[in-house]
Amino acid sequence: MCGIVGYTGPKEAYPIVITGLKRLEYRGYDSTGVALLNGGLKVYKKKGRVADLEAAVLGENLHAHTGIGHTRWATHGEPSDVNAHPHLSASGKLAMIHNGIIENYAQLKKELSNKGYVFKSETDTEVLLNFIEDIRENNQCDLEEAVRVALKRVTGAYVILLVDQDQPDTIIAARKGSPLVIGVGKGEHFLGSDASPMLEYTKEVVYVNDYELAIVKPNELILKNLGNEKLTPFVTKLDMELAAIEKGGYDHFMLKEIFEQPLTIHDCLRGRLDANAGTITMSGVANNIEHFKNAGRIIIVACGTSWHAGLVAEYIIEELCRIPVEVEYASEFRYRNPVINKGDIIFAISQSGETADTLVAIERAKEQGAIIFGIVNVVGSSIARISDGGAYTHAGPEIGVASTKAFTGQLAVLTMVALKIAKEKGRISDERYQQLLVELEAVPEKVAAILKNAPAIKAIAEKYKGATDALFLGRGYNFPIALEGALKLKEISYIHAEGYPAAEMKHGPIALVDENLPVVFVATKDAYHEKIVSNIQEIKARKGQVIAIITEEDDLIPALANEVFYVPPADEIIAPMLSCIPLQLLSYYMGVARGVDVDKPRNLAKSVTVE
Ligand code: GLU
Repeated sequence: MCGIVGYTGPKEAYPIVITGLKRLEYRGYDSTGVALLNGGLKVYKKKGRVADLEAAVLGENLHAHTGIGHTRWATHGEPSDVNAHPHLSASGKLAMIHNGIIENYAQLKKELSNKGYVFKSETDTEVLLNFIEDIRENNQCDLEEAVRVALKRVTGAYVILLVDQDQPDTIIAARKGSPLVIGVGKGEHFLGSDASPMLEYTKEVVYVNDYELAIVKPNELILKNLGNEKLTPFVTKLDMELAAIEKGGYDHFMLKEIFEQPLTIHDCLRGRLDANAGTITMSGVANNIEHFKNAGRIIIVACGTSWHAGLVAEYIIEELCRIPVEVEYASEFRYRNPVINKGDIIFAISQSGETADTLVAIERAKEQGAIIFGIVNVVGSSIARISDGGAYTHAGPEIGVASTKAFTGQLAVLTMVALKIAKEKGRISDERYQQLLVELEAVPEKVAAILKNAPAIKAIAEKYKGATDALFLGRGYNFPIALEGALKLKEISYIHAEGYPAAEMKHGPIALVDENLPVVFVATKDAYHEKIVSNIQEIKARKGQVIAIITEEDDLIPALANEVFYVPPADEIIAPMLSCIPLQLLSYYMGVARGVDVDKPRNLAKSVTVE
């Protein structure tokens, strides 16, 4: 995963690189490093966060006009000073940072070792770097040509930034499978895994494509393919402000993002949903409407939280549109041999739009003739670009590693898509359609009402923070929300948690229930409400501690549960967008109460650009 930053121009490079790395820390925080060209080539790197490196280099002469920096999410070799990027080549003349995995690194390493190369780190990155250097020396070619030759032999995914002490104002960059944005300033260029490091300097950016190589100097940006043909950089304008990536007075990005949801859901609906007019405007659906109307099947591919959004969508689409839906883990889908029929539509859901498994999964499906509909948050991301159509979630930058506002954005988009298809297919009565539009429009307001009661969830979190395990149960549309609640709690508090369909718990997990086990029921009013009330009885009979998320007018569950948290009434199709909010808060407050750095929980990274 990892975050990469680069700068070349008249300004001081180090502060730009280090500030950029802080913004990209959500992508990995195992180690941090920078390489600066200031007469010679200087590399500073250290295990730990960006702040640890900053402290370690205090007092150093960091003056330079060209620099690159890296924040790592380790794949090859443990987090350590030695494995931290940038790596130096054997000659010490080249420094390189890398995001991704070089899959054939073992073979290349063997070849280089036979030639006498000795490696300091365990990383695949150092192997690629020395491979490039070896080609440059043997072929007597320039660095750019050596990079091209090397990359043709490489399998895997990468973004690399490379600097050479003999070319003090040049950064060579290349990408395949991991994201790279180049910001174009006046007499200067910025590079980043996303646009956040360059926001205060320029709004003009170039999204580099796979198999492209960039030679970046202060006054020049040359883009080429691996065949050495020049390409015209396509400059687009960023629509993002600096404030969107700052904490704005909240203790953590996660909390800020949870509290932003009334606004982000509103932004997602804005311009699309008009309950007064009875319309949903989504060009990504409208442009492909015949495909949607005739689709034999929808296959949703996603990972993690996005996969849970996909599960909710399965229930909604099958109910409203009567189109069969399958929900697949992208990492499994890409390696099995799925049956994809002509006319199948693939929904790819990803916050970052860069999730490696999802990206490859849809590339495979596309080869087999499927139509790809992307639901992503990051504008201009890889999945957005290779999709045939799609819809952005418009949640703004999500920086907390645990996804919150992107999830509700995904649910809002998926609900609108389902409603639009159902309407076009004539599968939904005018009355029900209109009712759901009105309900959808009311979601931001209801989410705001739930957030006002956040202190009640905080009190529950304080009470149960010592738990070692937790069970999350839900039925129907709330079953995926139970899965999501369990995932959030694991990620943010390190409490072991399992999500289950409420009735399914009798087939195993009920054995875990005793007086110490908190069991969270997502039990808002729906068609099977009495069933879940029975499930609560079953847990109570075994002395489990029941925490129930219920609808305001519920008069059964308060008498049974140890704790209740109320959400406003809503149609069962809409309810997941409400019932997930207290679960986000619960995991957040539990994590904070247990001393976890909730924005950067251990071992995780936000945007999983390695498989
Ligand atoms: N594979 C490289 C490493 O383990 C890069 C990982 C990353 O993307 O951060 O160092």
